[in-house]
Amino acid sequence: MSSFIAFFRKPQSWPIVLIPAGLLIWAGFVAPVLVRESFYSLVYFDSPYQAALPLRRAGEPIVEQVVIVVLDGLRVDASQRMPTLNQMRALGADRVALVGQPSLSKPGWTTIGTGAWPEQSGITSNFTEKAISLDTLFLAAKRKGLTTALVGMDWWHQLYPLGVDYNRTVSPPTFLDVDIDQASLVQGDQAVISSALEVLQSKPNLVIIHLLAPDSAAHHWGGTSQQYLEVVRNADNQLARILAALDLNAAALFVTADHGHLDQGGHGGGEPIVLHVPMVSVGKGIRTGTYTIASLADLAPTVAVLLGTSIPAHNQGDILFDQLDTTDEVKATRALDLAQQLLARYEAMLQIISEAPEVNREIINRAEDALQAGDYAATRNLSEESNAAIRDQWTAARNHRLNGDRIGRFPLALLLLTGTMLYFIVWKRARWNWQAPMVGAIEYFVVWNGLYFGFHGHAYSLSMLSTESGDLPVLIGARLEAMFALMAAMVVVGILGRKSSAIEIVINASNALFMVASALAVQLLIFYVAWGLVFTKYLPDLRWVFKFFLDMLQTTAFWPFADWPLAILLPYLALLTLGVAKLVTSLKKLYRGSISAG
Ligand SMILES: [Zn+2]
Repeated sequence: MSSFIAFFRKPQSWPIVLIPAGLLIWAGFVAPVLVRESFYSLVYFDSPYQAALPLRRAGEPIVEQVVIVVLDGLRVDASQRMPTLNQMRALGADRVALVGQPSLSKPGWTTIGTGAWPEQSGITSNFTEKAISLDTLFLAAKRKGLTTALVGMDWWHQLYPLGVDYNRTVSPPTFLDVDIDQASLVQGDQAVISSALEVLQSKPNLVIIHLLAPDSAAHHWGGTSQQYLEVVRNADNQLARILAALDLNAAALFVTADHGHLDQGGHGGGEPIVLHVPMVSVGKGIRTGTYTIASLADLAPTVAVLLGTSIPAHNQGDILFDQLDTTDEVKATRALDLAQQLLARYEAMLQIISEAPEVNREIINRAEDALQAGDYAATRNLSEESNAAIRDQWTAARNHRLNGDRIGRFPLALLLLTGTMLYFIVWKRARWNWQAPMVGAIEYFVVWNGLYFGFHGHAYSLSMLSTESGDLPVLIGARLEAMFALMAAMVVVGILGRKSSAIEIVINASNALFMVASALAVQLLIFYVAWGLVFTKYLPDLRWVFKFFLDMLQTTAFWPFADWPLAILLPYLALLTLGVAKLVTSLKKLYRGSISAG
């Protein structure tokens, strides 16, 4: 007992106790809380930009009906192998659209019906079950006295509970099943279209139809698989049924998607194949041609103009005038409507992040004068000028606020970092070995990153989470591999300590753990300074936040499961390795001795 006390009187024995204890407290109690708070603030983002806005005036309708078909997870390349869609491309407007981030279904569907991006809509994941709190195409249609219909998956009605006259959404029978089969996926889409054809007989003015199967097929078999192409081909056949039921002298049909898919399946991140989707339209009010890239947010205001409704009040997109077939007067009038709507929308956003923002109304006043004078070209030019100015102002204000917040977060990060660095002074004074811990720590990062990037071929992207259920195999794997890499680091420290005493080995091992933890801490603190921990005013860069959660998960490997306090056990693994190494050496000697003796 007295030798035990004497042992801990020596300051060089502290790390054996203090480092594992600190890591356990972090991994068991601190990190899980921080990860949960941070993750929830991201996936249930409580956007501050959702307040009600003044409703805008309606306009002259160009068409009687607009039908939007959303093919979930349709890649541009796969869409080019759809005969019916290609027919639409030849007859109508062919273009590609860029979706927002995260490139997930519910955020995309929200952009389709509101023109608002995830940061502004607060719909940032598929986890959320809340309804959109913004103005929508459905509400705008109802204000105009139009009828509306929604056909497809029930998640749509969760988002759009209001303003839908014909709700034909259902819970899809094969969604997220482990053993989905192609036949039932195809049947699911066929049933949706049959239901849509029934609703179309009542001639609703605004119809959104959603086909899920392409997304399920891509998740299951990959975005370049034969199965995916066959399911997409079936979707094309279903599209043909819709097309046959429409009177294109009175209706316009849009076909688009919420996001694409990686070759191996998966979306959510910023890969070009995921962000680009087709946006093809045909029918009344649509000019034939191939057009420049649009954004998914442009669909809502463009549909509003076709139907003659007011532009959804929270819209951030542009009207695709280039592909609209209507008079210069209507175009000029609606261009001014959009400019007024965007000015009010962005002014409300500016008020959230800056104090007393000054908005330039002078350009819009001139646009109003031009419209009254019948100068349609000037009206449109001035309206676009106003849109560009207010958007630039928003970007600048957001960056300004972001930089200010970063400066505000810096002192705490510096304080925490200094605390960590103090330990290295203690380290130097105690003359502890630094080579073995350093090599062990480097080994940890080489092994973990080698597995993540090299072996799995993963990247820092939300698209790595290829399922849409709560089951996140990549993240679970990342933690298991962190445990493995830590154990491997301990083996290295043990072997490097061949000539050291047992206590030195344990100190080296503890110090190696400290090095791993502080290298992760530095990366976490950099993210904290850049984006914060709980997201309230803006969404963080999604690649960075993905890395942040991976780094956090690695730190939880020090205490991964309730009955696995790994941080305490790891240093003794180094000792055990040394023991085994010594045993092997002496067995070799014994063997050689016995040979020479014999
Ligand atoms: Zn999906």
